[in-house]
Formats: sequence, structure tokens, C-alpha cells
Amino acid sequence: MAKAPFTNIHIHVFNTECAPDNFLRIITSNFVRKHPKTFKSIIDKRFTRGIIRRLAKWGADKKGKDRGSVNKYISFLEVGTTNRQLDIYRDALAVAQKYDPQCRLIGLSLNMDHMDDKGRPPKNFNTQLKELKQIKKYYPDQFFPFVCVDPRAHAGQLMVNWMKKFFENGMRSPETGMVRPYFAGIKMYPALGFFPFDPRLDEMYAYAEREGIPIMSHCTRVGSQYIGPSIESLIPREVDMIHPEDSTSPEFIKAKSEIHARIERYYSQNPSWIKNNDYGDNDLACDLFGHPQNYIPVMLKYPKLKICLAHMGGDDQIELMNPEKETDNEIIKLDGYNWASLVKELMLTFPNLYTDISYTLAKLDEKKVRDEIQDWLRSADQEGKALNQRILFGTDFYMTEREARESELYQKAQNQLSQWMTVMSRDNCERYLFELPEA
Ligand SMILES: [Zn+2]
Repeated sequence: MAKAPFTNIHIHVFNTECAPDNFLRIITSNFVRKHPKTFKSIIDKRFTRGIIRRLAKWGADKKGKDRGSVNKYISFLEVGTTNRQLDIYRDALAVAQKYDPQCRLIGLSLNMDHMDDKGRPPKNFNTQLKELKQIKKYYPDQFFPFVCVDPRAHAGQLMVNWMKKFFENGMRSPETGMVRPYFAGIKMYPALGFFPFDPRLDEMYAYAEREGIPIMSHCTRVGSQYIGPSIESLIPREVDMIHPEDSTSPEFIKAKSEIHARIERYYSQNPSWIKNNDYGDNDLACDLFGHPQNYIPVMLKYPKLKICLAHMGGDDQIELMNPEKETDNEIIKLDGYNWASLVKELMLTFPNLYTDISYTLAKLDEKKVRDEIQDWLRSADQEGKALNQRILFGTDFYMTEREARESELYQKAQNQLSQWMTVMSRDNCERYLFELPEA
């Protein structure tokens, strides 16, 4: 069998126009939080974009430690304010092609239409998707977009009806003759304001499992989040959830009771960690949405569903992994889990659960992070199968421009994880994207 092409399973190509005006509230700076619109209108202006680009060029010859954090933010903004998603895709492609001219990039869309109840993005989600379809037409064998789902946009069977057109229509590649659907998978970003076990997602999971469509879900405590004023209405105390066939299974009962207890603990902090506010100050509350434990009811009900919990639970969590010693981290204590440890543990028992190494690569030079990732790659599940069969290579371009350049991330992975690069970037991605798991 021919070797599968080199694949980067995790990049983004949306620009700042796809985000609501208050989007920059996700940056934890008091100044930006209080004036997010001013800040965004500054970076969206053509004139400012010109300056950003000139500054970026000026910093382009600096590498690694020589680049200050301002310089890195400029790189991030430079990509984010690029006019076309196509151009952002081409930037990422240029780097990946050095590894394999036939490389594939997985572009994860993001529905930010419900991120803030007070304002919609200038470019709505449908337009974002239309543009992705256009890129697919230019690069049928090299661009594989994922469509983002949100139960506030579509629910139940209506979500499936809406989604079908992305997976059941496609095109023939003039070069290879292969017929491919326009979209290759489903993206979720729960921290924008919903739970992965939301019953409105039930039919979508059934469809994805039946069709072998992979799901990619963001899984870190920090990142983007719901920035609207009504966080309390999104987190009911006795939240309803998808039930597996056997709702008396001990795994389900344990997960459900711990999830409910966690919500209660977050509410009862003084001051409360879940509190309506006008500043998008929902960082801690939004951790509740994307918690790895929330996927247990889904995985129990849909055992053949391929789910990737991205980022190994977060580089901040990897730094704090420690099975022997009780943690003194306040958030982990109240939560009950270190997310990296929990994702790894869940991979031992759920055979179709994947993770990716995106957004951990910038920290590969840190011994602790490198050791933990290597240990993860060397571990085996309860059947004795290596976990490295379910760890995918990805970078999280261009979110990572705040940490390091794309080419530096490839280099770090190549240097520190060389013995696993082929399996992570070729075999595993191929299986995750296209294979139907056995019963
Ligand atoms: Zn990402």
C-alpha cells in the first residue's frame, strides 16, 4: 500500500471578520476586555493592517528566543487580519509542503455566531463555509475542511439535514480522479457555550458514527470562549444529558454525578465562578463545557464514534501532570481532574478516542512537557495496543503564532518526536479521517 500523505490534522484559516466585534475579550487583558470593540476596529482597519504587515516583515528574520512577545502577537494579528481564508491556507501549505509536496491540511472552521448574544460577526458562519468549499475546489487533494456544529444553530434531526449537504456532495479531483466530499469531518468548540453531551447533538453523533465521520473537539481550559452576558442560562444546575443504552452503567452514573457536583461547586464559590456579567469574564465557567469527562456519556452511547480531544488536554495541564503527588493547583483541585491526565486515562478504555499534539509543540523544549508526551506515546491501552496509534500530528496554525512560527513547530516535532512522526502524521491521520472502526 502506498504511504499515506503527510497530514497536519489541526489548522485554522478563518480571519478576524469571522469573529464578533467583542472577540478580543478572549485575551485576558483588562484593557482589552473593557474596550474590545475599539481594539478590534483598530486591527480591522486597512491602514492598521498595512502597519501590522510592515511590522511583521520587519520581524520576519528573527527566530525563536530573539522574538519578543509583541513581535509574536504581531505575527498572530498579521495572519488573522489577512483578507482571504484562501491566503491563510496557502501560508500554512507552504510550510507543510517542505515535508511532503502531497501534504494534506485539515482546516477546522469555527462557528462564532453564538459566541456573543450582543453581536454577530461581520462575516457569518455560512459565508465562512462557502469560502472553505471554494478552497476545496482549488485544492481537492490537499485541503480537508471540517464543519463546525453548535446546538444553538441547529438541533436534532435538523442539524443532520443541514449537515448532509457538506458530506454527501463533493467533487472529482482532476489530478487524481478521486471523488471526495467537500467536508471531511465535524468540529466542535464547546467553550463557546454548550455541553458535548447536549441532547440536541444526539442525532448528529448517530449520523457521524454510522458514516465514519471523525469529530474534532477543542479540549483545553484556556482558549476562546463564550463572551456574552448570560452565562448562567447556559449552565443549568441539573443539566440534561445524552444517556447511553444502559443508563444504569456505573461509568455513566459516576460521570453524571461528578459533572453535576462540579457545576454545583463552581456556582457556590465566593465570589461565584458562574456569574452573568457584561465583560465576557467567563473563563472559569467555560471550562465546564469542554471538560473531557463530558464525553463519557457520548462515547458510551456511540462506541464506534471517532472523537479527537485536541491538544492533549492543554500544555498547561501537561506541565502539572503528576499521578503521585496531590496537586496544589486551585483550579484542578476544585475541578477534580487534571485534563491531560484524564484524556490519557480515557484513551486506555475508549478505543476510538484520539488526541492531537497541536498547541503543545511550542513547549517541547521543556523537559517536563517532552517527557510526559513521550511517555504518553509509549503507553498502551487495556488491550495492550500502543496509544501512539491514536495520537495525531497537528500544529494549530495560526493560533500558535503567539508562541512560535509554523516552521519552528514542525522542526521541534521532528527533533523531539522523530520516531513517532510517521505514525502520527500519516498512518493515524489516515485511519482517523477515512476508516470505519470495526464493531
Ligand atoms: Zn485549534
